[in-house]
Amino acid sequence: MLLFGSHVGTISQEVMEFRFSKGKVCPHCAAESISRNGKYNGKQRYLCKACKRSFSDFTNSAIYKSRSSLEKWLKYAKCMIAGYTIRKSAEIVGINIATSFFWRHKILNCLKSFNGIGHVDGVVEADEVFFAESFKGTKPSKMPRKSRHRGAQVKLRGISHEQVCVATAIDRQGNLIMELLCKGRMTSNDLKKLYDGRIGKSSILCTDSHKSYNKFARDLSLDHKRIPSGKHKEGVYHIQHINSIHSKLKRWMRVFNGVSTKYLSSYMCWFKWMELFGSDKDTIKIRNFIVQSCVPHAYTKVSDFKTRVPAFI
Ligand SMILES: [Zn+2]
Repeated sequence: MLLFGSHVGTISQEVMEFRFSKGKVCPHCAAESISRNGKYNGKQRYLCKACKRSFSDFTNSAIYKSRSSLEKWLKYAKCMIAGYTIRKSAEIVGINIATSFFWRHKILNCLKSFNGIGHVDGVVEADEVFFAESFKGTKPSKMPRKSRHRGAQVKLRGISHEQVCVATAIDRQGNLIMELLCKGRMTSNDLKKLYDGRIGKSSILCTDSHKSYNKFARDLSLDHKRIPSGKHKEGVYHIQHINSIHSKLKRWMRVFNGVSTKYLSSYMCWFKWMELFGSDKDTIKIRNFIVQSCVPHAYTKVSDFKTRVPAFI
């Protein structure tokens, strides 16, 4: 008995509808003259009249070229939604650990491409959170510096260049921006790179008293409420939502035992997905997770992971 049997048909249908929502387009050359070309393994094939190449609804998606069934991917989605480690997910789904690693990151690349950076509006809380820079998984010969013992604290006090900054903004509707911003202290220019055009024009920005936000808010002509440190509230203006989201993020990240900085932005996208969709019903969550992993043409080759560098904004 297949756990997700009834989902498979609806997922294919949904992916196709998303992909062809603005007309049929070839994923290889973007031409628009497409004809149906039979079915293979239950999946509809198409032929592009321009480049003569064939494709399916899943070409260049997270599951592209996978020999595993969609059922297995759905099981894997369930593990990711539960926040399981690579090892635990591998055991549950019945794949090896390397495959589990690549599935996780292929999915996250697609989710990132599907959901984008986002947009916030109205009363907007903004703050940043820091993680120790990590080269986990990098060969010793390619290390830019000597590695720290796992879990060892960054030596310098305060914010140093051995930390990376994740910037977060949330509004009262629950819209969320959460991105790997820069190494070390952020500047108002870093903030502008991320938020320009992504914060509604008549928003009220609530932050702590960090001076980078002052200049940034002035430059973007945003109404700015600064909450002095030690004080938590100025009427409806506060930064309690963002403080609690950052505590939650730190707790959630602890399970993964140190994430390499080059994968940090993917983890932020994963966490954000859980924040945005986590309260949906389980079956809907799993289906949406896989649909969003299949709609974008954001397939990552295994060799691309080897040359990966941190994706700062
Ligand atoms: Zn084509």
